[in-house]
Amino acid sequence: MDKFEILKTYFGYDSFRDGQEQLIDCLLEGRDVLGVMPTGAGKSLCYQVPALLLEGITLVISPLISLMKDQVGALNSAGVHAAYLNSSLTPGQYRKALEYARAGRYPIIYVAPERLTTEEFLDFAQNARISMIAVDEAHCVSQWGQDFRPSYLKIARFMERLSSRPVVGAFTATATREVQDDIVRMLELHSPRVLTAGFNRPNLYFAVQAPKDRYAVVKRYLDTHREESGIIYCLTRKTVEEVCDRLRQDGFSVTRYHAGLSDGERQKNQDDFIYDRSPVMVATNAFGMGIDKSNVRFVIHYQMPKNMESYYQEAGRAGRDGEPAACILLYGGQDVITNQFFIEHGQDNEELDAVSRALVQEQDRDRLKKMTFYCFTNECLREYILRYFGEYGENYCGNCLNCLTQFETVDVTEIAKSMIDCARSCGQRYGINVLLDTLHGANTAKIRQYGMTENPQYGAWSKEPAYRLRQVLNYLLLNTYLRTTNDEYLLVKLTEKSRLVLEGQERIQIKMAREQEQLPEEKRKKKRKVKAASGLSGGVFTEEAQKIFEKLRALRMEIAREEQVPPYIVFSDKTLVLMSVQKPKNKKEMLAVSGVGAFKYEKYGERFLKCLKKSTES
Ligand code: ADP
Ligand code: MG
Repeated sequence: MDKFEILKTYFGYDSFRDGQEQLIDCLLEGRDVLGVMPTGAGKSLCYQVPALLLEGITLVISPLISLMKDQVGALNSAGVHAAYLNSSLTPGQYRKALEYARAGRYPIIYVAPERLTTEEFLDFAQNARISMIAVDEAHCVSQWGQDFRPSYLKIARFMERLSSRPVVGAFTATATREVQDDIVRMLELHSPRVLTAGFNRPNLYFAVQAPKDRYAVVKRYLDTHREESGIIYCLTRKTVEEVCDRLRQDGFSVTRYHAGLSDGERQKNQDDFIYDRSPVMVATNAFGMGIDKSNVRFVIHYQMPKNMESYYQEAGRAGRDGEPAACILLYGGQDVITNQFFIEHGQDNEELDAVSRALVQEQDRDRLKKMTFYCFTNECLREYILRYFGEYGENYCGNCLNCLTQFETVDVTEIAKSMIDCARSCGQRYGINVLLDTLHGANTAKIRQYGMTENPQYGAWSKEPAYRLRQVLNYLLLNTYLRTTNDEYLLVKLTEKSRLVLEGQERIQIKMAREQEQLPEEKRKKKRKVKAASGLSGGVFTEEAQKIFEKLRALRMEIAREEQVPPYIVFSDKTLVLMSVQKPKNKKEMLAVSGVGAFKYEKYGERFLKCLKKSTES
């Protein structure tokens, strides 16, 4: 078989996505690769396909037990023999798995990094033919990344001890330069081909809102999206519990996940979510790495996360099937403070020495700042994200809240002048809030104590709404007419560009929303319909097709129950949608549906054909 036949037979797809083929070809030629692709882009296939073509065993190193279980489950249901080796196995099961592995039963073995350097595993690996090592979530090897795992440092040592060096593929969704360099260095990749695939996910809709009552927004959203599966991310365990409890009381079928729960409960809740028994998950960022649930229709951030990397990774768990999905971030001023607290007091970096820790903190503050800017920009949100990851967007994507909102351009040069003058005249000694309070003429103890009531700009803009002043200041920071220090105090400082405004050489014009408007749900819905329809190869998703889809979905649930696998492992939503539109009548037509491979056809094909026949007749 060649790579295309593998793709079709085992995975049921007709073509590779951007970047996949290049990475696969490199690995097959024996060249190391580093694949940087956003969540949902399809990194797994990049090593699974060559694993099935190369002779010998591919070891996949992966950080999380749940992730391995999921992937191994999916592979086996596609007809690929795969196994995992981690601490969730009993010693007996572990030995049995190794025995089968020795006998050459598995072309693909997932292994936890801690295992690599144990005697038992080394003994196996040194005597087996390991032809490839795939390092998934490779950013875990970098101290600059957000998920540093010391056990990843063992990978290079492990490879040195093998009799011959296998080809190595590293995969991550984190695109920053430092992290990429670290991966190449720490994994000791040999002149790797580094391939960054497009970060744009056109099917994702982005929105930022700063509502007074976040819970009300979430509740309304869930109310109007009853049938959909989604994730609600919170910053703290406590918030997870609160939101989850309230939603339950309000009659929604939700579950929860955070590091404070027992292993048993975490596993159960995750399963409930994956198996669609509780379609909505409320969780901290502990949840989701490697979760390949393809029908997540929305990801709501109840609070602002700590950086854009985390945000895009978490938000990217929506819409993996390529169908329209929503990523909504709810922002509140307190979020910045909570995140700052995590940076100053976080336990993330306990293993680092003082100097490295200070560097990491500085970097974290900088990232937090850029995350905050995302919440305030009135420009295209997708453009902002893409630029952050070093790509260029089109300024107008037409599928984010900002692109769909009516803005007017307002000249705020005079306010900007006052702000810069205020920062200058107080000796650049104070932070954002003092500055804003001064302009607004607040009469608080702090302002008096700092002597800001004497500042020439005190009360200069007392009639302007506070949020507007904040918007102007954010614009100035975003466009470096002012900057803040990169320590925990965030003091406002002048920049080279400040002068241009003070001297009247540049005018400041910003876009402001006409009304303090919220999610234009109706507009979006309309758009979504068009998009969904045009995205389907077979044509429009008619009412009839929808009915068929529901029948197919019920059959899928029935099979999932019988086999005790998550429904999407049987077939993805997208595949069912295609079936209900294309209405295949025989084996040949069924195999032409994207997502239906030979192996899955053997297992389920007849039943789905029968179901289709019945529902098109009636
Ligand atoms: P990542 O690890 O990059 O986040 P995954 O490997 O989990 O992404 O893949 C995301 C989804 O995309 C999966 O449901 C997978 O089956 C699907 N997928 C991957 N490659 C293709 C392809 N060439 N055609 C269609 N679907 C694909
Ligand atoms: Mg993955």
